[in-house]
Amino acid sequence: MKPEEGPIASGLAPRRQTRAVTVQRPSGDVVIGGGAPVVVQSMTNTDTANAEETARQVMELAQAGSELVRVTVNTEAAAAAVPRIRERLDAAGVEVPLVGDFHFNGHALLKAFPDCAGALAKYRINPGNVGTGENRDSQFAAMIEAACRYGKPVRIGVNWGSLDQALLKRMMDENAARQVPWPVPGVMYEALVASALDSAAQAEALGLPADRIVLSCKVSAVQDLIAVYRELSRRCDYALHLGLTEAGGGSKGIVASAAALAVLLGEGIGDTIRISLTPEPGASRAKEVVVAQELLQSMGLRHFVPMVTSCPGCGRTSSVLFQELAAGTQQFLRDRMPEWKSRYPGVESMNVAVMGCVVNGPGESRHADIGISLPGNGETPMAMVFEDGRQKTMLRGDEIGSQFREIILRYVQSRYGK
Ligand code: SF4
Repeated sequence: MKPEEGPIASGLAPRRQTRAVTVQRPSGDVVIGGGAPVVVQSMTNTDTANAEETARQVMELAQAGSELVRVTVNTEAAAAAVPRIRERLDAAGVEVPLVGDFHFNGHALLKAFPDCAGALAKYRINPGNVGTGENRDSQFAAMIEAACRYGKPVRIGVNWGSLDQALLKRMMDENAARQVPWPVPGVMYEALVASALDSAAQAEALGLPADRIVLSCKVSAVQDLIAVYRELSRRCDYALHLGLTEAGGGSKGIVASAAALAVLLGEGIGDTIRISLTPEPGASRAKEVVVAQELLQSMGLRHFVPMVTSCPGCGRTSSVLFQELAAGTQQFLRDRMPEWKSRYPGVESMNVAVMGCVVNGPGESRHADIGISLPGNGETPMAMVFEDGRQKTMLRGDEIGSQFREIILRYVQSRYGK
């Protein structure tokens, strides 16, 4: 290609146009779809009936940046606790909307616990778990009617692990009768998409407006998820919730979620995301929020926290100083953000570089807003600090980390202070 044919385009496709769904919040609604920034959400793993413990975890998730938090509503005790959880959050000044996750008995709980139905900002309904046989439609209708009565949006969340078995069987039978049957995965994809779209059409027929419907079709394999969402996006303009279900734990869960969601988000598909990580024992539930934010920020879709660019290190830098400085700087920035967010607007877009040696250190540090290039093996024991592309100072000695954090603080105050 010749240069005069135009610049190389961004790797991101334009966002697919979907209907905007509003989730109410006192100080400003959360909007899903319609071109709004991709919303980060998460889910608690406490017993919802324990209002104190659940409210504490919701606060932790909200503090980490979750913009919606889903809670399981599976028993009468859980439904009764939801208004108490909301009260605790309100008393603590935490406005994050709560989403109720219903399976099997949601129709009964929403009817028996009106305070729960009112305290929730959104309902999640799994069409595969609303009932079987002749009860299925009436129980689904009861939940949609509750959403209409209380003015709540609904996510119709299909999941491969709980797909409507009657629908799947009918589709498998129809496929077997085809002259040339489709491959089985193709039937599975169609069953997932049809379950979501049929349920959405049913909800609209019951009076729930299209701009109060979010759809999801979650599966646990990366390529399946990509195939299903491409099709779902092609066939409707409902707002879409993305997530790889049962992604797993540790690096596997993070990589699999990022691999699937990055492809879809890069194609402009997806209005809200959740990263379904299995937590490490004793680890914070908020990790899934951090991963979701880092995914969106890495893709250039949103900014949450100043990002640290750091090299992997190699034989040219053998000290742990470099590793500690990279990790410590990122943690410092994340810890400061709750305060900085309101005091220093725009700081979330700041780029910080922490580099191991002179090979790429000065160059990468010049490209960042603020950067440091540590001395590698055999280099003079001085760390060059750059601001806005120019070398600002040299640091020496054992306190380089704390000195660099001081320099970052002053930079933030002078550049982003009102
Ligand atoms: S910047 Fe230096 S220390 Fe870091 S990876 Fe490159 S050569 Fe190695």
